[in-house]
Amino acid sequence: MKKTVILIQIVVIFLSGILYGQQKTENVFLITIDGLRWQELFTGAEKRLIDEEKNWVKDAQDVEAKFWRESPQERREALMPFFWRELVKHGIVYGNRHLESDVKVTNDILISYPGYAEILTGFSQNEITSNKGIQNPSTTILEFLKNELVLEEDKIAAFASWDVIQYIVSKEPGAIFCNAGFQPVYDEPLNETQQILNILQSEMPRMWKTVRYDAFTYYQGMEYLKKHKPRIFYFSFGETDDAAHDRRYDHVLEAAHRTDKYLMELWHFAQADTQYRNKTTFVITSDHGRGSGEADEWASHRKNIEGSDFIWIAVIGPDTPNKGELSKTATVYQKDIASTIAALFGLDFSKVAPDCGPPLPLALQASSE
Ligand SMILES: [Zn+2]
Repeated sequence: MKKTVILIQIVVIFLSGILYGQQKTENVFLITIDGLRWQELFTGAEKRLIDEEKNWVKDAQDVEAKFWRESPQERREALMPFFWRELVKHGIVYGNRHLESDVKVTNDILISYPGYAEILTGFSQNEITSNKGIQNPSTTILEFLKNELVLEEDKIAAFASWDVIQYIVSKEPGAIFCNAGFQPVYDEPLNETQQILNILQSEMPRMWKTVRYDAFTYYQGMEYLKKHKPRIFYFSFGETDDAAHDRRYDHVLEAAHRTDKYLMELWHFAQADTQYRNKTTFVITSDHGRGSGEADEWASHRKNIEGSDFIWIAVIGPDTPNKGELSKTATVYQKDIASTIAALFGLDFSKVAPDCGPPLPLALQASSE
């Protein structure tokens, strides 16, 4: 009798897997690296920008020793060693324009809020034309997942370096736990690390008014992850963008390199935990591109700066084929990210966002290999 019941349960689970497209993914880590250009991700540091004369780096020799190599492959591995030597082996990355793989932003504002809104809502939000801290006008993939997966309050969270992210993560204010900018973490009872990080964050000199150092975002986020084991977690890093606006290419490279270390630690954390190991998909992307012209267009991004609409997307996880860096792909879009994340859970985001892009064509094809 007992055996029959178990058998029926197995059949039900199997059938529901077929019907609802159930995947292996049970957790998603979304990670954004603000304005990190596809050029740096795929080809590493750019020689022309390592320029003391222009004051874009303080010590060219030091920067070259750390990040300049002869081939693009060596350069990108010097910049983001974990991403290129390990992480991409477990999934795919779109966006190397030299290999005819383009990822485009569809909003035509090409600054941060419209980009994050497009990532999280699955389409271009016409009302969002600036970086002002107003509430997101549309339901986000985070809110959608919280409802569909019936997640408790602490099982979905966002940690962000930029303070405006708190308005972007949800349509309903406060629907998603978000610690952003210089907010202290409220997560009582705070452990010792959380307390120390709160104190340091409030007392350290600040480089930017609305963006904290990514180290605070990362280490506070990791404390939260260990404590609450959320199923959906969003890390939003910001230094790569602000350092570029400051025209400090050395700081951009250092920030990208540190973010790579955070990716490594996050990956190892996930692989050592039974909830996350082989059941977690990493989705890594950027909110906008930047210019690439002869002058200083690399430092900025907006409608009139050519190249600001090209980004990149990596999907790494158990449902994604191990194809690594992709070439000769049809163009995919920033607005495809939200529905891809939904599809990893066998869910259809177009239910709440009819205009959202489709799931990325390769992201869910591991099983067909
Ligand atoms: Zn920017």
